Amino acid sequence: MIHLRLLFFFSVAFSLLANAAQSQTKPILIAADLTDAPRKLFHAEIDLPVHAGSLALVTPEWIPGAHGPRGPVANIVGIVFTADGKTLPWQRDDVDVYEYHLEMPAGVTTLHAHLDCINTRSSRVSAVLEWESLMLYPADTPVRQIAIQPSVKVLAGWGIGTSLQPLSAYDPAHPAGGTVAYAATTVEVLEDSPIMTGANFHEYTLASEVTPKHFVDFVGAEPADVNVRPEAIAQLSRLVREGFAMYGPPHYTSYHFLVLIPSHGGGGGLEHHESSDNSLPQHSLEQDDFAMIVADILPHEFTHSWNGKYRRPAGLATPDYDTPMRNELLWIYEGLTDYMGNVLSARIGSTTPQQYRDYLALTAAQMDATSGRAWRSIEDTTYEPAMPRPSGNAEAWSSWRRGADYYPEGDLVWLDVDTTIRRLTNNQKNLRDFLLIFLQKGVSGVPTVLPYDLNEVTADLNQIVPYDWAAFFNDRVNRVTPHANLEGIEQGGYKLVYTDTPTEFEKAYLKHRSASPEFWFSLGLALDQDGMVTDVRVGGPADKAKVNPGQKLVAVNGKTFTRDALHAAVAASKGSAQLLDLIVQDDNDLLQVTLDYHGGEQYPMLVRMEGTPDYLADITKPHTSADRSPAK
Ligand SMILES: [Zn+2]
Repeated sequence: MIHLRLLFFFSVAFSLLANAAQSQTKPILIAADLTDAPRKLFHAEIDLPVHAGSLALVTPEWIPGAHGPRGPVANIVGIVFTADGKTLPWQRDDVDVYEYHLEMPAGVTTLHAHLDCINTRSSRVSAVLEWESLMLYPADTPVRQIAIQPSVKVLAGWGIGTSLQPLSAYDPAHPAGGTVAYAATTVEVLEDSPIMTGANFHEYTLASEVTPKHFVDFVGAEPADVNVRPEAIAQLSRLVREGFAMYGPPHYTSYHFLVLIPSHGGGGGLEHHESSDNSLPQHSLEQDDFAMIVADILPHEFTHSWNGKYRRPAGLATPDYDTPMRNELLWIYEGLTDYMGNVLSARIGSTTPQQYRDYLALTAAQMDATSGRAWRSIEDTTYEPAMPRPSGNAEAWSSWRRGADYYPEGDLVWLDVDTTIRRLTNNQKNLRDFLLIFLQKGVSGVPTVLPYDLNEVTADLNQIVPYDWAAFFNDRVNRVTPHANLEGIEQGGYKLVYTDTPTEFEKAYLKHRSASPEFWFSLGLALDQDGMVTDVRVGGPADKAKVNPGQKLVAVNGKTFTRDALHAAVAASKGSAQLLDLIVQDDNDLLQVTLDYHGGEQYPMLVRMEGTPDYLADITKPHTSADRSPAK
């Protein structure tokens, strides 16, 4: 469902650091106060240059990287506007709830705004400020033209990680807490430059021989969280080198991996041009099996600085955060990034080549067993972030709904591109040749956005090897396809099979993720830890037996339900004529259901197809030699 009619080609890059304020000479001053972070409140004092008459101010709605109208307007509270010491009334726009209207009295040149933001990511020892939580600025003005000067106040002793340029040295030990003023910038750059701060803080320099400079700033729940093992730091230094080798010179003046390690919660990341806002589960950097399943987060977000922040689909390169984004190329923005994030994890040693193949097997099997692919294309899933959140239990029938599948499907599409280039060129060329063209147009060195459309992507691929790339993508992305794209895996020299034993990667996944796929490929059931059915695969054995999400397994073949009992029953089903008898609880009713299943345990893995080129081995090989310098 690519909206080709909506695609435009922008041939001119625009710099985020371009002289701000052609229409506005005085910057907005914004003083962020994060000292109430332990109470999950941020405060801001904002001074805006104004003149008499009607004024419309906005707070961001469409958040870059979130790909949807997810601005935190509902958490922005306690708003008071004053001018010349007098409180001014305001009115929310009756259509655009992100917009505030005021009348400026004659003679007023500065409007003061106070606001608070309820912030769920802060704690007693840490805070993450994504600036859309606190910013107000004039409506209907390109955000790269609005000058703004930020400062931040944090609790005494808290370290600060950010890509913003401080105007003077920061003293975290100052008894009144730390206040740092940063160089004037634009609303666009500020939105793109989060602050991560906390009592347990450590900054490490990465790949010190590389220019520009790279840092990783850890903020932890405990002091031990920021004392990161040297192997993990060395891997991040390798990531910098491998990123440069794959993508070429960057579009930043320095780069900060900001990494929050909260006391609870899963992993995730948000990309920015000169930094990334990452969360890693506690202890995930210490345990190899845990590290494996979150290994791609930092490589993914780092890749985005080139693919997503610099090269951006035209539909996502909007002039402000009120203009709706068009998501149809997210399978490139996120899909290519997801592919490279996992490839780089293997190249830097965060995962082994075997673990990479195990990851691919699980991804391909999950996509193949996604019920919703029967009605919905990959491209249609790119609209998921722009949709309202599903009401009720979002997990129920989620496979039938499909989620943000352009990430894992993108892995398979871009593996297919990589191996197709290798096949057509007898392994003389590969995806890197494309990336070094696609990601290296225009100016490097400073944050810049260079929009693209699909025609440019196919034209660049045709420079590497002539092929009908438009048809290639149309077949794989825009059409409804009953099975997952396994061509990349097979051209890579492997075949997806199912066995009765989980891979090491699946074991780690089963151990550390709450939603488990252990009965998904056999019975078509997803269960939580208590035996509650969280999802059912449409067309699978459980679906045919009319099992529903929300029901709870009570008994298996006449015995009380345990996971082990269900595993034993599934294993015994192989080659047996016996049916599988379950008792499920549905509200207060106990129901007997019978599954006609005889396939045994089913865990996906890749097996080598002997006699074919092993491109997956080539893909996971590092491009840079051994570390040139130890990380500090
Ligand atoms: Zn991403």
